[in-house]
Amino acid sequence: MAITDKIYVKNHRQLASQLETSFPKSAFAGATLDLLFTGDSLANLDSTTRDRVLDFAEDFLDCDCESHPYCGCAERKFMQYILELRAEGLGPDDIVHVMGDDYMLYAYSGDILSFLDQSVRTLEAAEALAETESGLDRSTELHEAKQELTGS
Ligand SMILES: [Zn+2]
Repeated sequence: MAITDKIYVKNHRQLASQLETSFPKSAFAGATLDLLFTGDSLANLDSTTRDRVLDFAEDFLDCDCESHPYCGCAERKFMQYILELRAEGLGPDDIVHVMGDDYMLYAYSGDILSFLDQSVRTLEAAEALAETESGLDRSTELHEAKQELTGS
């Protein structure tokens, strides 16, 4: 499962009751994206929640793909967002805290930790490949990216 399958809507029950409907807890589930990010629903949300939902839509759902919002851009951008927080030096617990503040989302810090480990391993693999295939420039680049992630 991708990390974006483990990102959940905070205050899910409260939101469902404001919208007078049910939707999946998972933030990136198709039904959630459809429901939360269509104009009709927004009017029923309290202003704090609405602001977070709008921020999320602006930051992650702003592409023009034909299959939007099922094109995968939102998931990709959200992973980027987590990696950027990590590069700023935040640990899994802090990352969970920040996504709550920013977008009213939550995840288990253990899931974030595995995602970060996975990302480092992917970079290591890419680094090793770059060394053999395309010379040292790309490898150095990847090595630096990995250092940002591991904070070493
Ligand atoms: Zn897209």
